[in-house]
Amino acid sequence: MNIILFGPPGAGKGTQAKILEQKYGLKQLSTGDMLRAEMAAGSPLGVKVKGIVDAGSLVPDDIMIAIIAERIDQPDCKNGFILDGFPRTEAQAQELDAMLTQKGKRLDAVILLEVDEKILIDRIRTRIAQTAQAGDAKRADDDEEVLKTRLEAFRKQTAPIFPFYEKKGQLEKVDGMQPVEAVTAKIDDILATKKAA
Ligand code: AMP
Repeated sequence: MNIILFGPPGAGKGTQAKILEQKYGLKQLSTGDMLRAEMAAGSPLGVKVKGIVDAGSLVPDDIMIAIIAERIDQPDCKNGFILDGFPRTEAQAQELDAMLTQKGKRLDAVILLEVDEKILIDRIRTRIAQTAQAGDAKRADDDEEVLKTRLEAFRKQTAPIFPFYEKKGQLEKVDGMQPVEAVTAKIDDILATKKAA
């Protein structure tokens, strides 16, 4: 089963992806996590994207497409994958489509976690406070101004992709403001319907 999880930063995509990973034996592919790992390792790619990621802007499409094309071929994706943070632009969505067709794979579900932006800003304030309290290192993009840039990137660059999936009858909207378990239950229902189809 191959799934895309869409939602603005802070909507709970990562949390749900981890749950789906455990439940269905899928592999979560978080492009944000991959980029942060490259940055932490100080790799040439990490050095190249650091300024962009820290500012909350989007990394160029060709870089992201190459990362995903290589990643979904790995053996740990054989049962399927959950894309978390990709695609984020129309070009990425179209390339993903072409790539999957070429590899003989398909998308089983495209899920959008819908949330209220004001509540997201409150959530990130809480996350920053909790990180500080725990004495953990703060993510450079965990910052209110940067969050606003990321929300704008979501609205302007990612939201316009939704009609692409809507037209194909693939987009499933889930209220991401519900408790984690309720969101998971709704996603389970969607996946059960898709599997039965
Ligand atoms: P995330 O953890 O998914 O919110 O990603 C963190 C940051 O990584 C984003 O704000 C972007 O700078 C970058 N990023 C992650 N995925 C993508 C993508 N598919 N396209 C462009 N930039 C991305």
